[in-house]
Amino acid sequence: MTAEIINGKELSTKLKASMKIETETLKRKGIVPHLTVVLVGDNPASRSYVSGKEKASQEIGMSSEVIELPTTISETELLALIQQLNDKPSVHGILVQLPLPPHIKEQHIIEAIHPSKDVDGFHPLSIGRMITGQDTFISCTPYGIMEMLRSKNISIEGKHAVVIGRSNIVGKPIGQLLLNENATVTYCHSKTVDLKAYTTQADILIVATGVPQMINADHIKKGAVVIDVGINRNEEGKLVGDVDFESVKEKAAFITPVPRGVGPMTITMLLKNTLKAAKGLAGN
Ligand code: NAD
Repeated sequence: MTAEIINGKELSTKLKASMKIETETLKRKGIVPHLTVVLVGDNPASRSYVSGKEKASQEIGMSSEVIELPTTISETELLALIQQLNDKPSVHGILVQLPLPPHIKEQHIIEAIHPSKDVDGFHPLSIGRMITGQDTFISCTPYGIMEMLRSKNISIEGKHAVVIGRSNIVGKPIGQLLLNENATVTYCHSKTVDLKAYTTQADILIVATGVPQMINADHIKKGAVVIDVGINRNEEGKLVGDVDFESVKEKAAFITPVPRGVGPMTITMLLKNTLKAAKGLAGN
């Protein structure tokens, strides 16, 4: 068996084309969807993520701005800026690029963003709404994974979904979304004993650990759906996921590649959340 590839780049292109039309429709009604990204400090990875987000917004005709702040900014000053953005009707989505310098408590900043503008879906209210199955902003990576599964009509109900990784931004929310769709969900993590005993039972395996190529064909069940969230550089400097793509693709039914897998979907879902905010559909 050679797995069918779920190409996140192609799916993103398709979704962005329809979002471009939606943006034009909103603009005709006098609403210009607008995303404000706040970047603190000079972390090269953060800078590259932010420019990717800005480029994608422009691609679909959305307005966006990046507010760059020095690392020395205090938490009080950053909170004051968030308040100004919350109060500005022309700003629909606010994203503060993480990580923040250690003197600023990330959770204070996340909680300061008004839930109606929380396009990253990190606010506790968004998370609570997601867990209770209400309409809300879903954080972008898990949201993108769900769209990838939907795009291939992969059935979730009654399936055993195994999630490796329990971060607040990927592992925990994707498990919850799969549970909302009636999967039976098992979470594994760095303290799990005998990981293989769980992964070989998975109908749907989500891998989000940041450990390069830790999952190979021996870890999976024949015909499984394998979603690789990892973005890592291997020893040769090549971009690889948390899954050994070459071996796993011979045994799985569906697999996401790295690159061109989950990564492009994350930015695309940020745009989708910003459009939702502009349309005032966040249920606030
Ligand atoms: P994290 O470091 O916050 O969490 C990693 C999780 O993996 C932890 O819960 C840990 O318990 C678990 N883990 C670590 N080693 C393990 C092992 N040997 N066995 C089992 N579990 C183990 O990471 P994160 O933010 O969730 O990101 C995970 C990966 O996904 C990283 O490679 C990151 O770069 C990538 N990522 C990609 C996207 C995207 O858009 N594609 C978005 C976010 C994160």
